[in-house]
Amino acid sequence: MKKINEVLVVGGGVAGLLAAINLKAKLPALSVRLVAHPLENDFALDAMAVTPAFLDHIHHELGLNPLTFIRAVGPAFTLGTRYQWGPRDFFDYTYEFQIDTKYARLRRETGFYVGAGARAFEMVGPASALMSHGRAFYRGVDGRPELSEGRFGYHLPQKALLNLLMEMAKHARVQVIKGKLAEARKNDEGISEIQLESGQVLKADLYVDATGLQSLLLGKALESKYESFAPGLACDRAVVGSFPRGQETVAPNAFVSAAEAGWIWRIDTLPTITCGHAYSSAHCDDQKAEAALRAKYPNCGATRLLNFRQGRYEQAWSGNVVGIGSAAAFIEPLAAAGPAVHPGAVFGKVDVPPVLARPPARARITPMKLHPRVLL
Ligand SMILES: Cc1cc2nc3c(=O)[nH]c(=O)nc-3n(C[C@H](O)[C@H](O)[C@H](O)COP(=O)(O)OP(=O)(O)OC[C@H]3O[C@@H](n4cnc5c(N)ncnc54)[C@H](O)[C@@H]3O)c2cc1C
Repeated sequence: MKKINEVLVVGGGVAGLLAAINLKAKLPALSVRLVAHPLENDFALDAMAVTPAFLDHIHHELGLNPLTFIRAVGPAFTLGTRYQWGPRDFFDYTYEFQIDTKYARLRRETGFYVGAGARAFEMVGPASALMSHGRAFYRGVDGRPELSEGRFGYHLPQKALLNLLMEMAKHARVQVIKGKLAEARKNDEGISEIQLESGQVLKADLYVDATGLQSLLLGKALESKYESFAPGLACDRAVVGSFPRGQETVAPNAFVSAAEAGWIWRIDTLPTITCGHAYSSAHCDDQKAEAALRAKYPNCGATRLLNFRQGRYEQAWSGNVVGIGSAAAFIEPLAAAGPAVHPGAVFGKVDVPPVLARPPARARITPMKLHPRVLL
C-alpha cells in the first residue's frame, strides 16, 4: 500500500468525528477531511451512555477540559446499570469493582457473601448502595462530592455530543465537507474516489468508513465478508421514546429489564428520561413492542423505530478502507457503549500504522488530568 498523505473520513457520527480528531491530534501534518451530513438527518439517539473508558479518552488522551465538556454537553453522571432480571429483583453492573473486591477484614471476596435474597445486591458495594439511594457520589470530609476517576460515566444527549465533537474537529483543523456520499468508485486498491450528491468528487489515500450501520464503503462498495451474529443475538429493532422528568430526581444509573422478546431500558439525561425496547422482530411485532414499552413507562411520548443488525465485517481494514464504529461491527445496544470508543482504540491508543507518510508528531492538545475538584 502506498504512503498515506490524505485521509477522507466519510460519516460525521461519533465514530467518524472521533477518528478525524484522533488522526489530527496524532499527526497534525496529515490532511484529514470529513464528509458530514447535516445533523438533523442523523441516526441520533436521544441519549447515549458512555463508560469511564470514553471519559479517559476524551479528557486525558484528547485533553478536553471536563468543565468545557460538561458545559457544552450537559451530561448526567452514571455509575453503571441496574439489571432488573434473573432470580433476584435486580443486580448491578457497576463501573467500579464490586463483587470482585476483597475487603481487608474479610476472608473471602465480596461475591462470596452475596446471598440469594431478592434484594441481595442492594448494598453489595459502594456503587450499588449509591444507586439504591438515588445518589451519584458520596460527600467527602469537606462536604463536597467525592468524584473518583474510572468509577463513573456519562449519560448524554447524543446531538450535544456531536455538536461538541464537530467543534473539536474544526479546532483540530479537520476540513469538514457538508454533503452526502452518492457513489464510491473502485480500483485495485479498494476505493479510487467518491462522489457526493452535489457532484463534488473527492480522492484520498485512505478512506475511513464511518457511515454507521449502512457501511457504505467497507460493506456496500467493497462487499467485504460479513459475519452475522444472528440468531444468537436476535434483537434487530428498537422502539425508542422519552418523557419529561417531572419531579423525579436524575437516576445515577441506567435501568434494564427483561421483556418477552428483548429488553427495555431507561437512561436519564438532565432534561428528560429516555426509554426504549430492543426486540427480535421475528418474535414480537412493532405494536406489541411499543405496548410493552408503554406498560413499563406510561408517560413515554411519541416513539420512533430503529432497525439494526448485529455482526461484524471479518476485515475491518480492507485495501485502502478502514471501517470504524457501527460501519465495522455492531452488537446489542446493551453493550454498544463500546463502539463510540473504537476510534480511540484504533487511532488513539494503538501506534500510528507505519504506512502513514509523516512521522507521528506530538499532539498539540495537552492532555490534562481529571482532578475531582475540577468538576465542582
Ligand atoms: C437502540 C440503540 C441504543 C444505543 N445505545 C448506545 C449507548 O447507550 N451508548 C453507545 O455508546 N452506543 C449506543 N448505541 C450504538 C451507537 O449507535 C453507536 O455507539 C454510535 O452511534 C456509533 O456511531 P457511528 O458514528 O459508528 O454511527 P452513526 O452514529 O450511525 O453515524 C453514522 C454517520 O454516517 C453518516 N452517513 C450515513 N450515510 C451517509 C452518506 N451517504 N453520506 C454521508 N454521511 C453519511 C450519518 O449521517 C451519520 O452521521 C446504540 C445503538 C442503538 C441502535
